[in-house]
Amino acid sequence: MPLQFKRSWANEELDSLRDTAARFIDAEMAPQDEEARRRGHVGHAIWRRAGELGLLCTDIPEAYGGGGGDFRHEAVIHEEMARRGLTGMSNSVHSIVAHYFLNHGTEAQKQKYLPAMARGELVGAIAMTEPGAGSDLQGIRTRAVRDRDAYVVDGSKTFITNGYLAGVILVVCKTDPAQGARGTSILIVETEGRAGFKVGRVLDKMGMKAQDTSELFFDAVRVPQDSLLGGQEGQGFFQLMSDLPYERLIIGLSALACMEGAYEATLAYVRERQAFGKPIAEMQNTRFKLAEVATQIMVGRAFIDRCVEQLVAGTLDTATASMAKLWGSEAQGRVLDELVQLHGGYGFMNEYMVTRMYADARVQRIYGGTSEIMKEVISRAL
Ligand SMILES: Cc1cc2nc3c(=O)[nH]c(=O)nc-3n(C[C@H](O)[C@H](O)[C@H](O)COP(=O)(O)OP(=O)(O)OC[C@H]3O[C@@H](n4cnc5c(N)ncnc54)[C@H](O)[C@@H]3O)c2cc1C
Repeated sequence: MPLQFKRSWANEELDSLRDTAARFIDAEMAPQDEEARRRGHVGHAIWRRAGELGLLCTDIPEAYGGGGGDFRHEAVIHEEMARRGLTGMSNSVHSIVAHYFLNHGTEAQKQKYLPAMARGELVGAIAMTEPGAGSDLQGIRTRAVRDRDAYVVDGSKTFITNGYLAGVILVVCKTDPAQGARGTSILIVETEGRAGFKVGRVLDKMGMKAQDTSELFFDAVRVPQDSLLGGQEGQGFFQLMSDLPYERLIIGLSALACMEGAYEATLAYVRERQAFGKPIAEMQNTRFKLAEVATQIMVGRAFIDRCVEQLVAGTLDTATASMAKLWGSEAQGRVLDELVQLHGGYGFMNEYMVTRMYADARVQRIYGGTSEIMKEVISRAL
Protein backbone atom coordinates (compact mmCIF):
# COMPACT_ATOMS: atom_id res chain seq x y z
CA MET A 1 0.00 0.00 0.00
CA PRO A 2 1.72 3.25 -1.08
CA LEU A 3 2.08 6.03 1.43
CA GLN A 4 -0.90 8.40 1.47
CA PHE A 5 -1.07 11.86 2.93
CA LYS A 6 -4.62 11.80 4.34
CA ARG A 7 -6.18 14.88 5.88
CA SER A 8 -7.72 14.42 9.34
CA TRP A 9 -10.51 16.82 8.32
CA ALA A 10 -11.44 15.14 5.02
CA ASN A 11 -15.02 13.95 4.42
CA GLU A 12 -17.14 12.91 1.44
CA GLU A 13 -18.47 16.38 0.70
CA LEU A 14 -14.96 17.86 0.72
CA ASP A 15 -13.67 14.99 -1.45
CA SER A 16 -16.34 15.79 -4.00
CA LEU A 17 -15.38 19.50 -3.97
CA ARG A 18 -11.74 18.39 -4.36
CA ASP A 19 -12.71 16.40 -7.46
CA THR A 20 -14.53 19.39 -8.97
CA ALA A 21 -11.54 21.66 -8.25
CA ALA A 22 -9.07 19.12 -9.68
CA ARG A 23 -11.13 18.72 -12.88
CA PHE A 24 -11.33 22.49 -13.36
CA ILE A 25 -7.61 22.95 -12.71
CA ASP A 26 -6.51 20.10 -15.00
CA ALA A 27 -8.92 20.80 -17.84
CA GLU A 28 -9.12 24.60 -17.80
CA MET A 29 -6.31 26.20 -15.81
CA ALA A 30 -3.32 24.00 -16.60
CA PRO A 31 -3.64 24.21 -20.42
CA GLN A 32 -3.57 28.03 -20.18
CA ASP A 33 -0.66 28.25 -17.77
CA GLU A 34 2.10 28.55 -20.35
CA GLU A 35 0.36 31.49 -22.04
CA ALA A 36 -0.46 33.09 -18.65
CA ARG A 37 3.20 32.79 -17.63
CA ARG A 38 4.26 34.59 -20.79
CA ARG A 39 1.64 37.31 -20.35
CA GLY A 40 2.13 37.75 -16.60
CA HIS A 41 -1.52 37.22 -15.67
CA VAL A 42 -4.28 34.63 -16.06
CA GLY A 43 -6.94 36.94 -17.53
CA HIS A 44 -10.50 37.54 -16.34
CA ALA A 45 -12.25 34.62 -18.06
CA ILE A 46 -10.73 31.96 -15.79
CA TRP A 47 -11.82 33.86 -12.69
CA ARG A 48 -15.40 34.00 -13.97
CA ARG A 49 -15.29 30.30 -14.84
CA ALA A 50 -14.06 29.46 -11.31
CA GLY A 51 -16.96 31.56 -10.00
CA GLU A 52 -19.47 29.70 -12.20
CA LEU A 53 -18.25 26.39 -10.79
CA GLY A 54 -18.65 27.61 -7.18
CA LEU A 55 -14.91 27.52 -6.52
CA LEU A 56 -14.57 31.10 -5.24
CA CYS A 57 -15.52 32.37 -1.78
CA THR A 58 -16.49 28.86 -0.68
CA ASP A 59 -16.28 29.86 2.99
CA ILE A 60 -18.42 32.97 2.62
CA PRO A 61 -22.07 32.63 3.75
CA GLU A 62 -24.65 31.90 1.05
CA ALA A 63 -26.47 35.11 2.03
CA TYR A 64 -23.55 36.98 0.44
CA GLY A 65 -23.31 34.74 -2.62
CA GLY A 66 -20.62 32.45 -1.22
CA GLY A 67 -20.56 28.67 -0.86
CA GLY A 68 -21.63 28.63 2.79
CA GLY A 69 -18.73 26.37 3.78
CA ASP A 70 -15.80 26.91 6.11
CA PHE A 71 -12.01 27.08 5.85
CA ARG A 72 -11.75 23.39 4.89
CA HIS A 73 -13.58 24.16 1.64
CA GLU A 74 -11.06 26.87 0.83
CA ALA A 75 -8.19 24.61 1.89
CA VAL A 76 -9.21 21.97 -0.65
CA ILE A 77 -8.99 24.48 -3.52
CA HIS A 78 -5.72 26.09 -2.37
CA GLU A 79 -4.23 22.62 -2.00
CA GLU A 80 -5.26 21.36 -5.42
CA MET A 81 -3.69 24.38 -7.13
CA ALA A 82 -0.53 24.17 -5.02
CA ARG A 83 -0.13 20.43 -5.66
CA ARG A 84 0.03 21.16 -9.37
CA GLY A 85 2.32 24.17 -9.02
CA LEU A 86 -0.33 26.50 -10.45
CA THR A 87 0.07 29.85 -8.73
CA GLY A 88 -1.32 32.15 -11.43
CA MET A 89 -4.81 32.69 -10.06
CA SER A 90 -4.23 34.06 -6.59
CA ASN A 91 -7.39 32.71 -5.08
CA SER A 92 -5.70 33.03 -1.70
CA VAL A 93 -5.49 36.84 -1.87
CA HIS A 94 -9.04 36.91 -3.30
CA SER A 95 -10.27 34.87 -0.30
CA ILE A 96 -8.35 37.07 2.14
CA VAL A 97 -9.99 40.19 0.68
CA ALA A 98 -13.42 38.53 0.88
CA HIS A 99 -12.75 37.85 4.56
CA TYR A 100 -11.92 41.49 5.22
CA PHE A 101 -15.33 42.37 3.81
CA LEU A 102 -17.05 39.62 5.76
CA ASN A 103 -15.36 40.33 9.10
CA HIS A 104 -15.06 44.11 8.98
CA GLY A 105 -17.30 45.49 6.22
CA THR A 106 -20.61 47.23 6.76
CA GLU A 107 -23.72 45.31 5.72
CA ALA A 108 -23.94 47.41 2.53
CA GLN A 109 -20.29 46.69 1.69
CA LYS A 110 -20.78 42.94 2.15
CA GLN A 111 -23.89 42.96 -0.03
CA LYS A 112 -22.17 45.00 -2.70
CA TYR A 113 -18.82 43.23 -3.05
CA LEU A 114 -19.06 39.64 -1.85
CA PRO A 115 -21.55 38.27 -4.43
CA ALA A 116 -19.55 39.82 -7.31
CA MET A 117 -16.33 38.37 -5.88
CA ALA A 118 -17.94 34.93 -5.54
CA ARG A 119 -18.98 35.09 -9.21
CA GLY A 120 -15.42 36.02 -10.20
CA GLU A 121 -16.65 39.26 -11.74
CA LEU A 122 -14.61 41.32 -9.30
CA VAL A 123 -11.10 40.12 -8.51
CA GLY A 124 -9.87 41.25 -5.09
CA ALA A 125 -6.48 42.65 -4.07
CA ILE A 126 -5.05 44.11 -0.89
CA ALA A 127 -2.49 46.88 -1.12
CA MET A 128 -0.36 47.36 1.97
CA THR A 129 3.25 47.34 0.77
CA GLU A 130 4.86 50.49 -0.63
CA PRO A 131 8.25 51.07 -2.22
CA GLY A 132 9.52 52.33 1.17
CA ALA A 133 7.60 50.13 3.61
CA GLY A 134 6.80 46.41 3.77
CA SER A 135 7.48 44.64 7.06
CA ASP A 136 7.14 47.93 8.91
CA LEU A 137 3.64 48.91 7.86
CA GLN A 138 3.58 51.84 10.29
CA GLY A 139 5.89 53.48 7.75
CA ILE A 140 3.36 53.61 4.90
CA ARG A 141 2.85 57.03 3.34
CA THR A 142 -0.25 56.64 1.18
CA ARG A 143 -2.58 59.30 2.44
CA ALA A 144 -6.38 59.60 2.35
CA VAL A 145 -7.78 63.05 3.09
CA ARG A 146 -11.46 63.76 3.69
CA ASP A 147 -12.90 66.26 1.21
CA ARG A 148 -16.65 66.89 1.60
CA ASP A 149 -18.39 63.61 0.68
CA ALA A 150 -15.22 61.84 -0.51
CA TYR A 151 -11.74 60.66 0.42
CA VAL A 152 -8.88 61.73 -1.81
CA VAL A 153 -6.08 59.16 -2.01
CA ASP A 154 -2.46 59.91 -2.93
CA GLY A 155 0.45 57.47 -2.89
CA SER A 156 1.87 54.36 -4.44
CA LYS A 157 1.92 50.65 -3.67
CA THR A 158 4.11 47.87 -4.97
CA PHE A 159 4.24 44.06 -5.19
CA ILE A 160 0.44 43.88 -5.20
CA THR A 161 -0.88 40.42 -6.03
CA ASN A 162 -3.86 40.49 -8.43
CA GLY A 163 -3.05 44.19 -8.86
CA TYR A 164 -3.44 44.13 -12.63
CA LEU A 165 -6.74 42.22 -12.78
CA ALA A 166 -8.30 43.55 -9.57
CA GLY A 167 -11.71 45.21 -9.78
CA VAL A 168 -11.68 46.02 -6.07
CA ILE A 169 -8.64 46.88 -4.00
CA LEU A 170 -8.41 47.33 -0.25
CA VAL A 171 -5.91 50.14 0.11
CA VAL A 172 -4.18 50.58 3.45
CA CYS A 173 -3.59 54.29 4.00
CA LYS A 174 -3.09 56.94 6.63
CA THR A 175 -6.18 58.95 7.45
CA ASP A 176 -4.43 60.69 10.36
CA PRO A 177 -0.61 60.46 10.22
CA ALA A 178 -0.27 62.01 13.69
CA GLN A 179 -2.05 59.04 15.29
CA GLY A 180 0.33 56.20 14.31
CA ALA A 181 -1.47 52.84 14.13
CA ARG A 182 -4.73 54.52 15.13
CA GLY A 183 -4.45 56.81 12.13
CA THR A 184 -4.45 53.92 9.63
CA SER A 185 -7.56 52.96 7.67
CA ILE A 186 -8.51 50.63 4.83
CA LEU A 187 -10.24 52.20 1.85
CA ILE A 188 -12.18 50.25 -0.75
CA VAL A 189 -11.17 51.37 -4.23
CA GLU A 190 -13.12 50.15 -7.25
CA THR A 191 -10.71 50.34 -10.14
CA GLU A 192 -12.99 50.48 -13.20
CA GLY A 193 -12.74 53.95 -14.75
CA ARG A 194 -11.32 55.44 -11.54
CA ALA A 195 -9.71 58.78 -12.38
CA GLY A 196 -6.15 59.14 -11.03
CA PHE A 197 -5.72 55.41 -10.47
CA LYS A 198 -3.05 53.69 -12.55
CA VAL A 199 -1.66 50.18 -12.63
CA GLY A 200 2.08 50.35 -13.26
CA ARG A 201 4.21 47.49 -14.47
CA VAL A 202 3.23 43.86 -14.09
CA LEU A 203 6.47 43.05 -12.29
CA ASP A 204 8.99 40.59 -13.72
CA LYS A 205 9.52 38.03 -10.94
CA MET A 206 11.86 35.11 -10.23
CA GLY A 207 8.87 32.76 -10.01
CA MET A 208 5.07 32.79 -9.94
CA LYS A 209 5.27 34.03 -13.50
CA ALA A 210 1.54 33.66 -14.21
CA GLN A 211 0.52 35.64 -11.12
CA ASP A 212 0.03 39.35 -11.73
CA THR A 213 2.01 41.32 -9.21
CA SER A 214 1.85 45.03 -9.89
CA GLU A 215 2.69 48.54 -8.91
CA LEU A 216 -0.30 50.78 -8.21
CA PHE A 217 -0.40 54.57 -8.34
CA PHE A 218 -2.97 56.85 -6.75
CA ASP A 219 -2.95 60.46 -7.89
CA ALA A 220 -5.74 62.42 -6.18
CA VAL A 221 -8.06 59.43 -6.52
CA ARG A 222 -11.54 60.32 -5.22
CA VAL A 223 -13.61 57.58 -3.62
CA PRO A 224 -17.00 58.09 -1.92
CA GLN A 225 -16.86 58.53 1.85
CA ASP A 226 -18.69 55.24 2.39
CA SER A 227 -15.62 53.47 0.94
CA LEU A 228 -14.03 53.20 4.37
CA LEU A 229 -13.96 49.49 5.30
CA GLY A 230 -16.33 49.15 8.25
CA GLY A 231 -17.31 52.80 8.01
CA GLN A 232 -15.00 54.02 10.78
CA GLU A 233 -11.63 55.74 10.48
CA GLY A 234 -8.54 54.47 12.32
CA GLN A 235 -9.51 50.78 12.34
CA GLY A 236 -7.05 49.66 9.63
CA PHE A 237 -4.34 48.17 11.83
CA PHE A 238 -6.78 46.28 14.01
CA GLN A 239 -8.56 44.93 10.95
CA LEU A 240 -5.23 43.80 9.48
CA MET A 241 -4.11 42.13 12.71
CA SER A 242 -7.32 40.21 13.33
CA ASP A 243 -7.21 38.33 10.01
CA LEU A 244 -3.58 37.20 10.24
CA PRO A 245 -4.22 33.55 11.30
CA TYR A 246 -6.38 33.01 8.19
CA GLU A 247 -3.76 34.47 5.84
CA ARG A 248 -0.80 32.70 7.37
CA LEU A 249 -2.44 29.31 7.47
CA ILE A 250 -3.23 29.54 3.74
CA ILE A 251 0.51 29.98 3.06
CA GLY A 252 1.47 27.13 5.41
CA LEU A 253 -1.03 24.71 3.95
CA SER A 254 -0.25 25.62 0.34
CA ALA A 255 3.43 25.05 1.10
CA LEU A 256 2.66 21.57 2.37
CA ALA A 257 0.43 20.71 -0.61
CA CYS A 258 3.17 21.91 -2.96
CA MET A 259 5.64 19.56 -1.20
CA GLU A 260 3.18 16.67 -1.63
CA GLY A 261 2.71 17.34 -5.34
CA ALA A 262 6.45 17.73 -5.91
CA TYR A 263 7.21 14.55 -3.94
CA GLU A 264 4.73 12.51 -6.00
CA ALA A 265 6.08 13.89 -9.29
CA THR A 266 9.64 13.13 -8.20
CA LEU A 267 8.78 9.60 -7.12
CA ALA A 268 7.39 8.93 -10.61
CA TYR A 269 10.44 10.54 -12.22
CA VAL A 270 13.08 8.58 -10.30
CA ARG A 271 11.31 5.29 -10.99
CA GLU A 272 11.49 6.04 -14.70
CA ARG A 273 14.94 7.61 -15.01
CA GLN A 274 17.81 5.15 -15.45
CA ALA A 275 21.50 5.55 -14.55
CA PHE A 276 24.19 2.92 -14.26
CA GLY A 277 21.76 0.32 -15.57
CA LYS A 278 18.96 0.77 -13.07
CA PRO A 279 16.27 3.28 -12.08
CA ILE A 280 17.73 6.03 -9.89
CA ALA A 281 14.91 5.20 -7.45
CA GLU A 282 16.93 2.13 -6.48
CA MET A 283 19.96 4.09 -5.32
CA GLN A 284 20.25 4.44 -1.60
CA ASN A 285 20.67 8.21 -1.70
CA THR A 286 17.45 8.62 -3.72
CA ARG A 287 15.50 6.35 -1.38
CA PHE A 288 16.86 8.11 1.69
CA LYS A 289 16.11 11.58 0.32
CA LEU A 290 12.54 10.59 -0.54
CA ALA A 291 12.14 8.91 2.86
CA GLU A 292 13.23 12.16 4.53
CA VAL A 293 10.83 14.23 2.41
CA ALA A 294 7.91 11.85 3.05
CA THR A 295 8.65 12.03 6.79
CA GLN A 296 8.66 15.85 6.73
CA ILE A 297 5.35 15.84 4.89
CA MET A 298 3.76 13.39 7.34
CA VAL A 299 4.92 15.37 10.38
CA GLY A 300 3.86 18.67 8.73
CA ARG A 301 0.47 17.20 7.85
CA ALA A 302 -0.25 16.47 11.52
CA PHE A 303 0.52 20.09 12.51
CA ILE A 304 -1.20 21.78 9.56
CA ASP A 305 -4.31 19.60 9.97
CA ARG A 306 -4.52 20.62 13.61
CA CYS A 307 -4.25 24.28 12.60
CA VAL A 308 -7.05 23.79 10.03
CA GLU A 309 -9.28 22.26 12.69
CA GLN A 310 -8.45 25.08 15.12
CA LEU A 311 -9.20 27.74 12.51
CA VAL A 312 -12.56 26.15 11.77
CA ALA A 313 -13.26 26.06 15.53
CA GLY A 314 -12.19 29.72 15.84
CA THR A 315 -9.30 28.92 18.20
CA LEU A 316 -6.22 29.35 15.99
CA ASP A 317 -4.03 32.06 17.50
CA THR A 318 -1.65 34.30 15.55
CA ALA A 319 1.56 32.75 16.97
CA THR A 320 0.53 29.20 16.00
CA ALA A 321 -0.58 30.35 12.53
CA SER A 322 2.78 32.13 12.20
CA MET A 323 4.48 28.80 13.02
CA ALA A 324 2.48 27.19 10.20
CA LYS A 325 3.66 29.89 7.81
CA LEU A 326 7.26 29.81 9.05
CA TRP A 327 7.61 26.03 9.13
CA GLY A 328 5.67 25.45 5.91
CA SER A 329 7.53 27.98 3.78
CA GLU A 330 10.99 27.05 5.15
CA ALA A 331 10.34 23.30 4.73
CA GLN A 332 9.01 23.91 1.23
CA GLY A 333 12.27 25.62 0.25
CA ARG A 334 14.41 22.77 1.63
CA VAL A 335 12.25 20.01 0.16
CA LEU A 336 12.03 21.55 -3.31
CA ASP A 337 15.79 21.98 -3.35
CA GLU A 338 16.24 18.22 -2.69
CA LEU A 339 13.63 17.23 -5.26
CA VAL A 340 15.17 19.43 -7.96
CA GLN A 341 18.49 17.69 -7.25
CA LEU A 342 16.91 14.27 -7.84
CA HIS A 343 15.85 15.48 -11.32
CA GLY A 344 19.46 16.21 -12.34
CA GLY A 345 19.71 18.64 -15.29
CA TYR A 346 15.98 18.33 -15.99
CA GLY A 347 15.44 19.85 -12.57
CA PHE A 348 16.80 23.12 -13.97
CA MET A 349 14.40 23.15 -16.93
CA ASN A 350 11.25 25.22 -16.63
CA GLU A 351 9.20 22.60 -18.45
CA TYR A 352 9.40 20.48 -15.27
CA MET A 353 6.89 21.19 -12.54
CA VAL A 354 9.43 20.82 -9.72
CA THR A 355 11.60 23.48 -11.33
CA ARG A 356 8.76 25.98 -11.44
CA MET A 357 7.76 25.02 -7.90
CA TYR A 358 11.33 25.60 -6.72
CA ALA A 359 11.32 29.14 -8.10
CA ASP A 360 7.78 29.81 -6.84
CA ALA A 361 8.64 28.54 -3.35
CA ARG A 362 11.23 31.24 -2.70
CA VAL A 363 8.73 34.02 -2.13
CA GLN A 364 6.73 32.03 0.40
CA ARG A 365 9.37 32.99 3.00
CA ILE A 366 8.99 36.66 2.07
CA TYR A 367 5.37 37.66 1.43
CA GLY A 368 2.58 37.57 3.98
CA GLY A 369 5.24 38.56 6.56
CA THR A 370 8.84 37.37 6.19
CA SER A 371 10.26 34.42 8.15
CA GLU A 372 12.07 36.92 10.38
CA ILE A 373 8.80 38.69 11.18
CA MET A 374 7.17 35.28 11.91
CA LYS A 375 9.96 34.61 14.43
CA GLU A 376 9.34 38.02 16.03
CA VAL A 377 5.64 37.23 16.39
CA ILE A 378 6.25 33.70 17.73
CA SER A 379 8.94 34.85 20.16
CA ARG A 380 6.57 37.43 21.64
CA ALA A 381 4.24 34.58 22.59
CA LEU A 382 6.93 32.52 24.35
C1 LIG B 1 5.32 38.04 -5.21
C2 LIG B 1 4.94 38.98 -4.10
C3 LIG B 1 3.59 39.20 -3.83
C4 LIG B 1 3.24 40.11 -2.85
N1 LIG B 1 1.89 40.40 -2.66
C5 LIG B 1 1.55 41.43 -1.84
C6 LIG B 1 0.19 41.87 -1.77
O1 LIG B 1 -0.71 41.31 -2.39
N2 LIG B 1 -0.09 42.95 -0.98
C7 LIG B 1 0.87 43.60 -0.27
O2 LIG B 1 0.55 44.56 0.39
N3 LIG B 1 2.16 43.19 -0.31
C8 LIG B 1 2.53 42.13 -1.08
N4 LIG B 1 3.83 41.72 -1.15
C9 LIG B 1 4.83 42.41 -0.35
C10 LIG B 1 5.38 41.55 0.79
O3 LIG B 1 4.40 41.31 1.75
C11 LIG B 1 6.62 42.28 1.33
O4 LIG B 1 7.61 42.20 0.32
C12 LIG B 1 7.13 41.67 2.63
O5 LIG B 1 6.22 41.89 3.67
C13 LIG B 1 8.51 42.24 3.02
O6 LIG B 1 8.51 43.62 2.98
P1 LIG B 1 9.69 44.39 2.18
O7 LIG B 1 9.75 43.81 0.80
O8 LIG B 1 9.46 45.83 2.29
O9 LIG B 1 11.00 43.96 2.91
P2 LIG B 1 11.66 44.71 4.18
O10 LIG B 1 10.61 44.96 5.18
O11 LIG B 1 12.46 45.85 3.69
O12 LIG B 1 12.63 43.57 4.71
C14 LIG B 1 13.95 43.34 4.21
C15 LIG B 1 14.64 42.31 5.11
O13 LIG B 1 14.70 42.84 6.43
C16 LIG B 1 14.13 41.94 7.33
N5 LIG B 1 13.48 42.62 8.44
C17 LIG B 1 12.59 43.64 8.41
N6 LIG B 1 12.16 43.94 9.64
C18 LIG B 1 12.80 43.08 10.48
C19 LIG B 1 12.79 42.89 11.90
N7 LIG B 1 12.01 43.61 12.71
N8 LIG B 1 13.58 41.93 12.42
C20 LIG B 1 14.38 41.16 11.62
N9 LIG B 1 14.42 41.30 10.28
C21 LIG B 1 13.63 42.24 9.72
C22 LIG B 1 13.12 41.16 6.51
O14 LIG B 1 12.77 39.93 7.14
C23 LIG B 1 13.85 41.01 5.21
O15 LIG B 1 14.72 39.91 5.29
C24 LIG B 1 4.23 40.77 -2.09
C25 LIG B 1 5.58 40.52 -2.34
C26 LIG B 1 5.95 39.65 -3.34
C27 LIG B 1 7.41 39.45 -3.60
